[in-house]
Amino acid sequence: RDKTTRKPTWLKREVPGGARYTEIKAKLRELKLATVCEEAKCPNLGECWGGGEGRTATATIMIMGDTCTRGCRFCAVKTSRAPPPLDKDEPANVSKAIAAWGLDYVVLTSVDRDDIEDQGAGHFRETVQRLKGQSDVLVEALTPDFRGEKHLVELVASSGLDVYAHNVETVPELQADVRDRRANWDQSIEVLKHAKKSGAKITKTSIMLGLGETHDQVINALKLLREADVDVVTFGQYMRPTKKHLAVVEYITPEAFKRYQEIAEGMGFLYVASGAMVRSSYKAGEFFLANVIK
Ligand code: SF4
Ligand code: SF4
Repeated sequence: RDKTTRKPTWLKREVPGGARYTEIKAKLRELKLATVCEEAKCPNLGECWGGGEGRTATATIMIMGDTCTRGCRFCAVKTSRAPPPLDKDEPANVSKAIAAWGLDYVVLTSVDRDDIEDQGAGHFRETVQRLKGQSDVLVEALTPDFRGEKHLVELVASSGLDVYAHNVETVPELQADVRDRRANWDQSIEVLKHAKKSGAKITKTSIMLGLGETHDQVINALKLLREADVDVVTFGQYMRPTKKHLAVVEYITPEAFKRYQEIAEGMGFLYVASGAMVRSSYKAGEFFLANVIK
């Protein structure tokens, strides 16, 4: 059933380069930051990091370790029921390093930590607070679902962040096949709604396409997201990280991505990014500066 053996031409991307990119990469080694951009070998790295000349530089940083307590069927992050404890110095160290980097926009994300009492919400909050206290970088927190516990969502949403992001990942109908059994559509919608209620000005989510969802299921998902007052949505092509992960059912064409973009824009989302290579954080800074600050 795997139709992935040959990738369509639009999925090919050049190797990132450029002076700004090389400079950032060298600095990263010094700062000892773990970026999702590098670890996931993200194809947009050159574009996201290569700000300058009126463009913004964006990166995605991973906090709370590299080992997740969940096992979503699309995700290559390693898993364990009992990952090492959190590093209590991480909020201070990471915020100092990001401030020194000179980024315009940073996405802070984490693995899920179901093993910790507050699931890492306090650690997330502290990292955002420290970072906002020492730099004017714009901060997006891309969070776990905190098993829908509202006080934990609130801890992060009221931390002073600029964007609260939580990914629903796929349409309601495919949640059980794609995500860890502890995750589901309604719980994620409640997280996004509660983040708004607790002070997040902008909420954002992301949907992977090519997992077997139908056009009508995508449109319905968009309707439900608008009803939950979600402001930003991104669509990208699901890519199978290894043979052990879920197979790609379909490669969505550039025309179909464009169509979804137009439909979503027509439904009133503040910003929509849709394309095969789009990832949740793709050029996130450019969106923010163009739509919110100006
Ligand atoms: Fe990967 Fe996030 Fe799922 Fe953990 S919760 S397995 S990091 S997608
Ligand atoms: Fe990094 Fe996200 Fe940009 Fe990829 S899309 S390079 S993960 S910021």
